Amino acid sequence: MKYWIVTFGCAANEADSERIARYYEARGYTKARSIRSADDVVINTCMIRQKAEDRVYGLVYNLSLAKKKGRKLKIVVTGCMVGMAAREKTGKMLTLLKKKMPSVDEFLPIEEVGFDHAPIRTDKDHALVLITNGCNNFCTFCVVPITRGREVSRPFEDILLECRTVAIQGMSYVTLVGQNVNSYGADFASQSVIPATEPGSSRFKSDRFRVKPGMEKKVTYVKHLGRLRIPTLFPHLLEEVCRIDGLKLIDFISSNPWDFSDELIGVIASNAKISRHIHLPVQSGDTEVLRRMNRWYTREEYLTLVKKLREHVPGVTLSTDIIVGFCGETVDQFENTVALAKKVGFTKAYVAMYSDRPHTSAHKVYSDDVPHAEKKRRWQILEELINKTNLRNGTYS
Ligand code: SF4
Repeated sequence: MKYWIVTFGCAANEADSERIARYYEARGYTKARSIRSADDVVINTCMIRQKAEDRVYGLVYNLSLAKKKGRKLKIVVTGCMVGMAAREKTGKMLTLLKKKMPSVDEFLPIEEVGFDHAPIRTDKDHALVLITNGCNNFCTFCVVPITRGREVSRPFEDILLECRTVAIQGMSYVTLVGQNVNSYGADFASQSVIPATEPGSSRFKSDRFRVKPGMEKKVTYVKHLGRLRIPTLFPHLLEEVCRIDGLKLIDFISSNPWDFSDELIGVIASNAKISRHIHLPVQSGDTEVLRRMNRWYTREEYLTLVKKLREHVPGVTLSTDIIVGFCGETVDQFENTVALAKKVGFTKAYVAMYSDRPHTSAHKVYSDDVPHAEKKRRWQILEELINKTNLRNGTYS
């Protein structure tokens, strides 16, 4: 039996697909030469924008036509669309999904694949290593906390073991992947800090975390709702990955501005193996829009972080994500994004026109009131300013 995987969406989905490949091979399947010769086609879905969802429906429709013509084929759908439906308790969403795609034979929640299946990588030099799954941030436009659930961190030692393994296999470049790598470890660091020794104290007061017997790390606190209160181990993890012989280049995605700690900047500054290109999603250059997006930083805080990075990491370049035409975004607010982009000088930007996603807070509370033509105009301005200019100048990265 042969399988073929089609992946939509982000690096986390790509990393999931590598584990799905192992999941299939463990059940006796081999990889097909193409989608046409596969017995099972697995579609790893994305819901970040309507366009991504539509591409899934289009592919399923085309495969269903092949089935109607007599091809023996199993269509399996996994990823974000299934994650969201599987988490919904009444089962209504799953019923709706089945109704929308009646030719699908199996809806596979990614949790069933789990982390136990070692990825099958096709790239010989570059490994994506998942460090967290899910997100706790609930940006109002984003469906990820609903599709992937709350943030779960992989154990520190498991990640190091995977990185050591890829180095032994001869790979030299590792990307640590998570929806927000900066809060890596928040889930278990907060439970496992070493209890205070003060007599009578019932509270955990120590700021040290036991990674494994004999290895303790000082937890770094990052900002949540304006206060340093989320414990993270990401700077330590990054430092440990840098110590692995054979790895020459290490980077990470995504890394959100509000919890990009000074400790993390320090680790980057002191480790030449860490990429000098950082992806730092800004989404908007207007503080009021950021507030409505539930992004926990202001325009000024973002610019201060960029300044700090440039001071401590000479030669650092930055790319970003920007949403144009978010609910209620005025022309002046958009111009603030343009001005910020000019000031920062991004080398690349993933510019997206706002796409209303069901079940998000923005969908429930705000109105998608910027006309499509205006969204497109704003998109074109930023595309020209950032991507096309960098492409012409040879500075696109
Ligand atoms: S940080 Fe915000 S944009 Fe990123 S995955 Fe989480 S909710 Fe979505």
